[in-house]
Amino acid sequence: MNYSVQFGSLWPSIRVSLLSEQKYGALINNFSDADRVSRELELLNAVDFIYESQKAARHMQGDSPVERVRGEETVPQETHREQLSVEQTQMPSSLSTSISPNIKCYTFSKGDVSRFPPARPDALGTLGYYLLDAASLLPVLALNVQPGDLVLDLCAAPGGKTLALLQTGCCRHLAANDISASRSNRLHRVLCSYIPKDISADVRITSWDGRKWGELEGDTYNRVLVDVPCTTDRHSVMEEDNNIFSQMRMKERQMLPMLQVQLLLAGLLAARPGGEVVYSTCSLSQLQNEYVVERAVEVAETEYNINVHVEDLSYFRRLFQDTFSFFADCRLGELVLPHLTANFGPMYFCRLRREQ
Ligand code: SAM
Repeated sequence: MNYSVQFGSLWPSIRVSLLSEQKYGALINNFSDADRVSRELELLNAVDFIYESQKAARHMQGDSPVERVRGEETVPQETHREQLSVEQTQMPSSLSTSISPNIKCYTFSKGDVSRFPPARPDALGTLGYYLLDAASLLPVLALNVQPGDLVLDLCAAPGGKTLALLQTGCCRHLAANDISASRSNRLHRVLCSYIPKDISADVRITSWDGRKWGELEGDTYNRVLVDVPCTTDRHSVMEEDNNIFSQMRMKERQMLPMLQVQLLLAGLLAARPGGEVVYSTCSLSQLQNEYVVERAVEVAETEYNINVHVEDLSYFRRLFQDTFSFFADCRLGELVLPHLTANFGPMYFCRLRREQ
């Protein structure tokens, strides 16, 4: 009832999509034989949507799509993945500075409902890709991690986004936290299956209450991801088990927006001045999305004297329009809507910059 009011004529399509099979993306593990894995996925007709979207954007901007530059030499367009990060650093537009390099994710194109087979371990036991809702990479891309950054993932388990953050190869240190000890253990197991020991040494996994982070480590991080607990709408329409809309969890559900504001606020306090924070949910609810952002910004200003700038991410909508169906009417941030031809999301994400 709530969403039919919020989305009007869009709601029947969103609803039927939520009730239909979700699409996945295969996040390539750069710590495996990524070229071989990519080639195998291409044989299934999957494409790296991040790479393809950026290529299309370059083409629109009038750059030659025929050749890419690697160091001093030019390489043919079809030569594979290792050039991606170099190419991205050379993109002339604002896009080059706004997308974390090195993240590769394969999806089937719009309307293609094929499934990925489960990833197989290589000779060393490392898995070649991680299956996840491809829209859940958008908050990570929006975080735009830069080389040498100190990064905090405040609500990290089970770890899909943590894994994506590590694929950037940019984190000098990554703090991955989740209040649930059992879910943090799951995060630990995910990292063990994908990340070599020397890389995971730079990851600190904790099980603290993220709401306290501002007091524990204020003004510290260059980048903070606040991927909060929410009504997990897709899960909630399909699963009876532990459903957040059950009578038993009513109080918890009513308190969610408050918890979300507190977590976002803690993320803003943990960021150093000039640092970036991305807030994300997998809910369609305006109350859990834009209203939470507005309230956290207000409290940061009135109670902590911290100015926060909500950044424009509308270029994400343009860049990734061939892969996802975006809601056109978000006042703050961006929202991926489930759609039968592109059944990803829901995923809301909004980037905030803590001012000096
Ligand atoms: N970022 C994760 C990923 O990509 O796999 C998903 C995070 S999930 C949407 C939200 C998480 O927040 C849950 O694992 C939950 O245990 C955690 N959480 C709930 N309350 C929290 C709190 N006060 N502090 C830290 N984490 C919390």
